[in-house]
Amino acid sequence: MFDELRKKISNAVKGFIKKEEKEIGKPADDIAALKAETGTEKPAARGAQQEPGPKPMEISLSVGTKIKGAFLDSIKLNDADMERFVEGLRPALLQSDVSYDATDDFLGILKGKMSDSKFKSRNIREQMMESVRESLLEMLGRTKPGIDIVERIRQKISLGEVPVRVLFLGPNGTGKTTTMGKIAMMLKKQGIMCLFSASDTFRAAAIEQTEHHAKAIGIPVIKSTYGADPASVAFDAIAYAKAHAIPVVLIDTAGRQETNKNLVNEMTKMVRISKPDITIFIGESTAGNALAGQVQEFSKHMNIDGIVLTKLDCDAKGGNAVSIAHTTGVPVLFFGVGESYDALVPYTPEFVVDSILPAG
Ligand code: GDP
Repeated sequence: MFDELRKKISNAVKGFIKKEEKEIGKPADDIAALKAETGTEKPAARGAQQEPGPKPMEISLSVGTKIKGAFLDSIKLNDADMERFVEGLRPALLQSDVSYDATDDFLGILKGKMSDSKFKSRNIREQMMESVRESLLEMLGRTKPGIDIVERIRQKISLGEVPVRVLFLGPNGTGKTTTMGKIAMMLKKQGIMCLFSASDTFRAAAIEQTEHHAKAIGIPVIKSTYGADPASVAFDAIAYAKAHAIPVVLIDTAGRQETNKNLVNEMTKMVRISKPDITIFIGESTAGNALAGQVQEFSKHMNIDGIVLTKLDCDAKGGNAVSIAHTTGVPVLFFGVGESYDALVPYTPEFVVDSILPAG
């Protein structure tokens, strides 16, 4: 996951520094000449052994800044260089499915950060990477924070507002049933019992798949037959949970096409009948730029509390993990990173940034 984005950002930074070195020629000679010019040092005799000291300034600078840099051993990017560096990153992000608005926001933060920064003339690549990292964290930190599902459920239980209803929505095949299983297992580990409402009565084998997960996790499942009204299955599941003091109902739904009017009507009816406390959109990380449209389409008709971004383990680009919350205003709650029950990672900006720009 994130392999492409990681490689592209790293190449953009490396490419910029290499290009600058080439354009300047030999930076060490350049500085030695400047020091000689300003009377701080005599140029080394041709052929004489060079001191192994720091290799100053790897970036093109105005003459004034160069002279300052020679004394201070630190540099500041001029506007043109900064523009070139920052804009060099743009294709890396866009080609990795990071949305336009998130890319713009990130590059704006980076520009501001770099114009305030002085770089030591050593390890400039690492320092630039650090600026990229900080800017990415800042951009991710600007999105609406997600709810803590377990905490929200605990609160409802302690207030006696049970059963707590959690609804899973999203296009077909994105991992709704699998994610519902992962969340059931997570709740079970926290000592919170739940049951499944097998309300995907549309997709072949969906009911059996839900039963399979319920058996593996050790929880009940309420089901009907294929073609039955999904909302009535949810209604029965809620009634069963009430009768058996089961505090949480996890409600699966059918997918089909996100823009399909029938599906939207079906989901609206499901929301009306089941009155979910938490509604989670399940979307595939690999859906590229189509994902934002899917979330926005559902959001028009119902409140969505958060996104679980599945199949991040299969996504070399990873741009949706960076920008979907920024673009849609709906926070990411978890990443699905595999098919097993424990392959669910809580969303944090640090997880995203550490995966894209590993330290060191
Ligand atoms: P649904 O139609 O939305 O209920 O989707 P399913 O839960 O049936 O999942 C569709 C396929 O995606 C199944 O083969 C799942 O095992 C797989 N899947 C779900 N989540 C993930 C994930 O995070 N990573 C990977 N690699 N596969 C996943």
